[in-house]
Amino acid sequence: MSRSADFLVVGAGIIGLSIARELKRRHPDQSVLVLEKEDRLGRHSSGRNSGVLHSGLYYAPGSLKARLCRQGAAELARFHEQHGLPLRRCGKLLVPTHPERAEAMTVLEERAWQNGVQVERLDEGELRRLEPETRSATGEALWVPETAVGTPAAVLPALLGEVEALGATLQRGAELRNVDVARRQAILSSGERLSFGLAINAAGLQADRVAHRFGVGTRYALLPFKGLYWRLDPASGIHLNHLVYPVPELGILYLGVHTTTASDGTVYLGPTAVPAWGRENYRGLAGIDPRELPRIAGQLISMGWRDTDGFRQQAWQEGRRCFKPWFFEAARQLLPRLRPEHLQPAAKVGLHPRLYDRERGRLVKDFVLEEGRHSLHILGATSPAWTSAFPFARHVCDWLAASSSPVSASPSPEPIEGLSA
Ligand SMILES: Cc1cc2nc3c(=O)[nH]c(=O)nc-3n(C[C@H](O)[C@H](O)[C@H](O)COP(=O)(O)OP(=O)(O)OC[C@H]3O[C@@H](n4cnc5c(N)ncnc54)[C@H](O)[C@@H]3O)c2cc1C
Repeated sequence: MSRSADFLVVGAGIIGLSIARELKRRHPDQSVLVLEKEDRLGRHSSGRNSGVLHSGLYYAPGSLKARLCRQGAAELARFHEQHGLPLRRCGKLLVPTHPERAEAMTVLEERAWQNGVQVERLDEGELRRLEPETRSATGEALWVPETAVGTPAAVLPALLGEVEALGATLQRGAELRNVDVARRQAILSSGERLSFGLAINAAGLQADRVAHRFGVGTRYALLPFKGLYWRLDPASGIHLNHLVYPVPELGILYLGVHTTTASDGTVYLGPTAVPAWGRENYRGLAGIDPRELPRIAGQLISMGWRDTDGFRQQAWQEGRRCFKPWFFEAARQLLPRLRPEHLQPAAKVGLHPRLYDRERGRLVKDFVLEEGRHSLHILGATSPAWTSAFPFARHVCDWLAASSSPVSASPSPEPIEGLSA
């Protein structure tokens, strides 16, 4: 007899687990099964990120990111405290590294107020007192006291504990390979078939592939960008009290090379956002899928050709940063006393799944939810999805409550005409 679940969640990253917890809170009598293709948690973005609880000042007012990030940061900080996980409430400085970023700083300051984020404009003296190691090209900086740094690797097991305590189940080493939408059956890598009432796709870097198997979101494809970090040599004599970020150029998708002091005190510089050649291409040639190379290259070339959102300049600027001299150049703009030998290779590396819209030929900036028959798909859950995960899960469940009929895995063992996506 085949197993079944009322709710089938694909992916046990922070998004999948948060959704599983919220589903169980709202529907204690219905079964929730989370499928995870890896044998351990945190192999992908949720275990490899910077761990910054973003305050939410960058995002366009009214966007999903702006709405969920601020609330999410407060909830994730509380989660750390409740579970006794390390959390540094260190605040962050936004520093213009070029005189022409003064205008961008003003825009960000206004946006912060619109998004309800507390910021303070500092003059040169105040900046020097707060963070003597950095410098501002305009003499001013923004101080964001609410930003904190958490512990991504510890959050997932703690969250799983809550999910399981509510009665949901995690199946590890279980990859969703295919789906029979008409029968509402998921086909796993083992060949096993699982019946479900509703499937929720939270597969991170693979979310577009999973969605396409349901016949959903075919206009989207994920493009992976590599986030490489360097470690600051503790013997460098550079001591940082806060996180230090450059004021980014307006309209670009990345925050720029910045500093993050992890909960164990290690100072990381990065991450980059250089094109990767596979969804799991963390190092060298590993994780490159030759079948995907032409698609990835083609979409990058297309964006370069059209120069959408200043892509050419971004690609040139970011692409070079996989080489130490260019990375160092970006980092030294923030920390003038930095020398090349202060940068030590770091094992830390992550992949940003950017959502490419084939119809518009550009990258999507906000989170995207796509609905199919018996399924909901979370596409492009890029930063700050780690920060926003808890209210994001409520948003997903509200969406389901507003749009769907009662969910049950049982009533439809036979194909239903016309429901195949
Ligand atoms: C370098 C870097 C730095 C970042 N820094 C920050 C930060 O400081 N703050 C912040 O808020 N955000 C940050 N982010 C973003 C954040 O990490 C992600 O947005 C978030 O972790 C996404 O979570 P997820 O659950 O969607 O994806 P994931 O964590 O990737 O989880 C998806 C899971 O699905 C599983 N899966 C995939 N396909 C299948 C399948 N077919 N069947 C079963 N399971 C499957 C995968 O194995 C994986 O475990 C950063 C991201 C990167 C890459």
